[in-house]
Amino acid sequence: MTRATREKPVGNYFISNYPPYSFWKPEFAAEAARAMDRPPAPGTPLGVYLHIPFCRKRCHFCYFRVYTDKNAEEIQGYIDASLAELALAARKPFVGGRRPDFVYFGGGTPSFLSVRQLTELTDGMKRILPWDRAEEVTFECEPGTLTEPKIQYLRDMGVTRLSLGVEHFDPEILELNGRAHGDREIGRSYGFARSVGFPQINIDLIAGMMGETDEKWRDAVEKTVELAPDSVTIYQMEIPYNTTIFQDMKAAGRETAPVADWPTKRRWVAEAFERLEGAGYAVTSAYTAVRDPRRTKFVYRDRLWTGADLVALGVASFGHIQGTHYQNEHDWDPYLRRLRAGELPVYRALTPSPEERLIRELLLQFKLGRVDAGYFRKKFGAEIRERFSEALETIADWGFLEGEGDEIRLNREGLLQVDRLVHEFFLPRHRDARYT
Ligand code: SF4
Repeated sequence: MTRATREKPVGNYFISNYPPYSFWKPEFAAEAARAMDRPPAPGTPLGVYLHIPFCRKRCHFCYFRVYTDKNAEEIQGYIDASLAELALAARKPFVGGRRPDFVYFGGGTPSFLSVRQLTELTDGMKRILPWDRAEEVTFECEPGTLTEPKIQYLRDMGVTRLSLGVEHFDPEILELNGRAHGDREIGRSYGFARSVGFPQINIDLIAGMMGETDEKWRDAVEKTVELAPDSVTIYQMEIPYNTTIFQDMKAAGRETAPVADWPTKRRWVAEAFERLEGAGYAVTSAYTAVRDPRRTKFVYRDRLWTGADLVALGVASFGHIQGTHYQNEHDWDPYLRRLRAGELPVYRALTPSPEERLIRELLLQFKLGRVDAGYFRKKFGAEIRERFSEALETIADWGFLEGEGDEIRLNREGLLQVDRLVHEFFLPRHRDARYT
């Protein structure tokens, strides 16, 4: 069977990097150290990502490294460790006098921290590596953890993009899926945030949570439109093996997760995008609609997908320095132990080949819905229409490809399933391998 006549793949999971994480190895960790010892390539942007792994409770669909049982003393130990980690990294030659172009506080729930803890953390970070020139500072929040003074503090500390993990507005769905916040906390926290004047507020939604129905989803989208955030991010629910839902499903001997199937989830996202477009939004990626595309950017995503350096801070964090990808220790004790011993806590790494770097950028930029062949010609000296002719032909044969000349574009149907389409660009050795 030729590739052009192959069946469309059925698997679907979020592709956030390439080569697959299962190829990142502890035996390559020294490559990250060597990358940090080199001065930066001119013109490479620098970002900082801090993972704050605390949540009030664990959502049933969560597959992140999070802790719901840490006390104030342990949280203080984590803040100290993150600052020690930044201080170690900031002394390395790869920084080369650069200041961060973007900063991202992700989780977990960064807004779990109190104003006192946040003050200590962010004052410390700014002393080590000031972010006064950062184009974007993103901070992820869980609505139920936000108070007026905390929101004001976030604005004062320089957050430009506040991302609210709303996920849904229906109280029963929030409860059924184990979310810590209720529906009333959404409007209250959004109202505070608007009054403080963040340049950008993003609302995250998930299509296909347990208990989802056509009517409830439509209602969630309507409520989002009423709030009129600058940006809306919509994910399709996935149930990986390390979620409570998957464990319960296995224990009950069930084969399928108690959530809608992929075509239904895609239809819900398609309907949400149509409604948002009707309200004046523009769809700017497989997951994102923004009110004003000229003003509302997502610098963190766009810089990472074009090869920026990213300093990873925190347990299980992912970073990238000068062509080497790495991940920190993904358990609490080893992460803290290594920092207390004065070492950077890199757990595993991978330095992709030039060809893998090209594929990485191509498939990540595909998730924006369009790629520019001219970019790849200039950066990699590659003609992607020729180099990937077979993969592009397959995707075209399935009816998802548009564009001509240097522009290669996915239609809406293709965009909504881009995470499975990009497998067509994988090298053969990565195609049937485990992703994580
Ligand atoms: S709030 Fe996010 S990180 Fe925390 S448990 Fe829920 S899904 Fe996981």
